[in-house]
Amino acid sequence: MTKWVYSFGGGEAEGSREMRNLLGGKGANLAEMASLGLPVPPGFTITTEACNFYYANGQEMPEGLTEQVEAALARLEEIQGKSFGGGELPLLVSVRSGARSSMPGMMDTVLNLGLNDDTVEELAKSADRRFAYDSYRRFIQMYSDVVLGVDHHEFEAILEEERDTRGVAGDTDLSADDWVEIVKRFKALVDEVHGAPFPQAPRDQLWGAIGAVFSSWMNARAITYRRLHDIPESWGTAVNVQAMVFGNMGEDSATGVAFTRDPATGEKALYGEFLINAQGEDVVAGIRTPQYLTEKARTEAGSDSPSLETLMPEQFAEFLAHSNRLEEHYRDMQDMEFTIERGRLWMLQTRNGKRTTRAALKIATSMAEEGLISEEEAVMRIEPTSLDQLLHPTLDPKAERTVIARGLPASPGAASGEIVFSPDRADFLTKEGHTVILVRLETSPEDIQGMVSARGILTSRGGMTSHAAVVARGMGKPCVCGAGALKIDHKTNTMLVMGKAYHEGDLITIDGATGEVMEGRVAMLQPEVSGDFAKLMVWADRTRRMRVRANAETPEDARAARDFGAEGIGLCRTEHTFFQDDRIVAMREMIVAEDAESRRSALAKLLPLQRQDFLELFQTMRGLPVTIRLLDPPLHEFLPKGEHEIAEVAEAMGADPARLRDRILELTESNPMLGSRGCRLLLLHPEIPEMQTRAIIEAAQHAARLTGEPVVPEIMVPLVGMLGEFERVKAVIDATAKEVNASGEPKIEYKVGTMIELPRAAIRAREIASAAEFFSFGTNDLTQTTFGISRDDAASFLTHYQELGIIEKDPFVTIDVDGVGALITLSVREGRMGRPDLKLGICGEHGGDPASIRFCEDAGLDYVSCSPYRVPVARLAAAQAVIGKKTASSETA
Ligand code: ADP
Ligand code: MG
Ligand code: MG
Repeated sequence: MTKWVYSFGGGEAEGSREMRNLLGGKGANLAEMASLGLPVPPGFTITTEACNFYYANGQEMPEGLTEQVEAALARLEEIQGKSFGGGELPLLVSVRSGARSSMPGMMDTVLNLGLNDDTVEELAKSADRRFAYDSYRRFIQMYSDVVLGVDHHEFEAILEEERDTRGVAGDTDLSADDWVEIVKRFKALVDEVHGAPFPQAPRDQLWGAIGAVFSSWMNARAITYRRLHDIPESWGTAVNVQAMVFGNMGEDSATGVAFTRDPATGEKALYGEFLINAQGEDVVAGIRTPQYLTEKARTEAGSDSPSLETLMPEQFAEFLAHSNRLEEHYRDMQDMEFTIERGRLWMLQTRNGKRTTRAALKIATSMAEEGLISEEEAVMRIEPTSLDQLLHPTLDPKAERTVIARGLPASPGAASGEIVFSPDRADFLTKEGHTVILVRLETSPEDIQGMVSARGILTSRGGMTSHAAVVARGMGKPCVCGAGALKIDHKTNTMLVMGKAYHEGDLITIDGATGEVMEGRVAMLQPEVSGDFAKLMVWADRTRRMRVRANAETPEDARAARDFGAEGIGLCRTEHTFFQDDRIVAMREMIVAEDAESRRSALAKLLPLQRQDFLELFQTMRGLPVTIRLLDPPLHEFLPKGEHEIAEVAEAMGADPARLRDRILELTESNPMLGSRGCRLLLLHPEIPEMQTRAIIEAAQHAARLTGEPVVPEIMVPLVGMLGEFERVKAVIDATAKEVNASGEPKIEYKVGTMIELPRAAIRAREIASAAEFFSFGTNDLTQTTFGISRDDAASFLTHYQELGIIEKDPFVTIDVDGVGALITLSVREGRMGRPDLKLGICGEHGGDPASIRFCEDAGLDYVSCSPYRVPVARLAAAQAVIGKKTASSETA
């Protein structure tokens, strides 16, 4: 016979904390506390398996459950010396749901179950009448709300009325008779709304509540919550039935919640609140202002209400002892619930407490220093992406704000600045010393310079993977996108929202973490890499195997990357700098050039500019490796658009605008992303790799002379699918480098490698590696080309796919291990066969995603490269990947 019910209390328990899957978090920890000998009101837990059975069998309770519940109830009655459903001392219980991880979407707890018209009178005899009827009305209210579906507002309305007619402000002023009256009205309400009298038999009440807990597993709130937090439906929920203890039995009774350490700062000090003469839900409901547990917290908050420490020193000392014991036992900060009934302390719940990132860092590092956990465990305790919060300025939570619109939280951090509507103005005004927010319908690659200059970016169109969002995240720049309420007019340069027009120069604030758009300037807190943060990073660095590099083009980004601990640049996209200033004109000239000679003359204008860029980058990265990708993007991103741009380029070239228009038509492709881009363009126009190689090697020579620490440039050829493509571009690079090295000093060592971003390249990795010295997996393109999905167009159907369960995660965020990952694994193996010392890295957006980083560790890559602001996240994730891999292999061994 399956065991569906596990008892706890009276100094022992059938369950333990290891049985979380079966008993849920709450049940497992109640059992654990009971076995530790802590004062836990006795009770029993119905397993998650019973819930699963219930759903698998047309909502039937499993066979044997009734008998097992009866047996557990009998045990409970014996321990308590009370009886459930009659007798002089009525046994009252709470019914509490509890899944494996705590889930706010689940059923609310029902307290005081077992009360009815008879037992309330018995309770009144043994305790007091006012208390008994107050408890009864609470029970009717909670039970009817969560089990019978009578909205609790309807009860609140009655209470409100009763208070009004009696002219009292709070419930404490209501007398026993008042409560008797209210109970009558509550029962009448249930009768009317529910269409049947309030259930009187305690066993009916109990099974009603158990059924309601099971049903709540499938309510809309719970389903949404599960989807958002990747909780499988198959987990099910447990039900805890537990003898009631009362914090509302007078001035010697109380109820409260506490953390073993401060959940906001992580400081090692008991932190909590309580209410005198109250039942559990009162603390959460916030109807009364709670008092502080400790004297220290009370004085710090300047509160006049006495602390528990002074009010009930004995119970406080006992609670403190229990909480220390629990923290030591669980080896983590605990979040606890307790109740004091007539001077006697009871523990009602414990769990690992939620905390801010700052607190998490403090707690993990101090616990390691206290010797409670190891450094490795400390490293495992921090969710890598939570570090994001600490790496950007954030709005001061205390500051006042006027929210005028909401969009998508596309890139975290907050920014205040003057509105500008064009990238040029953004650039111009920034140079003049203004701080600006670039406000656009949407952004395009040409807006890069303006985006670089702006403090933040706001768009009214586009989703989380729109150009603005992706680029802003890459730059670590606050961005709110798709704020549809904003009417942005680029002709008149106005932004209209809520009937008000905003113009250039008007101040706004955006919060890229919440998507809020606010009027004016809102006070901020600057990011600060605190001592604990730095300490944890050192531990992570000691553990990780993979190196962490950054994707960066500008010296500012490179500096930020170094500050955050990057060990090189994994991807410098040379074309980004081409969109700047007047360079774009020369760039366009080069693209539309009809012969090699005019192309060379355009490139000659670009050479010194590129060289200067590289020089600054190499100076910043002194000594560290820098991977530079040769020109990659599709042609159409550079073609002049509109009369103005055409005229501009025609003039620079000394060409006829009409002729130029024809040329543009010739170059227009129907599928530019799969057209003449990457190495195809480099092969069509070898003058491009020639110029770029020259710029790289000359800049490296110059930097070496200036710093004495030569960088090793790694020149990367994009979009290679065939060995022949790579070999031919490499020949151009080598010839040029040889020439430059022959005529300048010092001689620069360099490597030539390729991006692996086409399935064919992945499959033919062995022969490509025979010529290439390194591979960098360009997983953005590799994902697009493997799936045949364009990232820019994917938003509409990928979410749908997730809803349908076709895919679990967005493959552009977390690497698709089965498909794209298999190609990577294949090319790692094949590539190393072609060249044993082949250097392997990843430079797509996945390089900053912890789950993808775990994959990279397993695949044996040498480094990951991500945006500068993700570097600490990647360092931590790379360390966790090593520990995770070790744990996984010791578990299978
Ligand atoms: P939640 O998960 O929402 O915290 P709980 O099941 O922990 O729900 O219960 C809600 C409140 O009721 C808590 O304050 C808890 O301490 C209190 N409570 C639950 N069971 C009992 C009980 N047997 N006796 C007294 N208070 C209880
Ligand atoms: Mg609780
Ligand atoms: Mg690419």
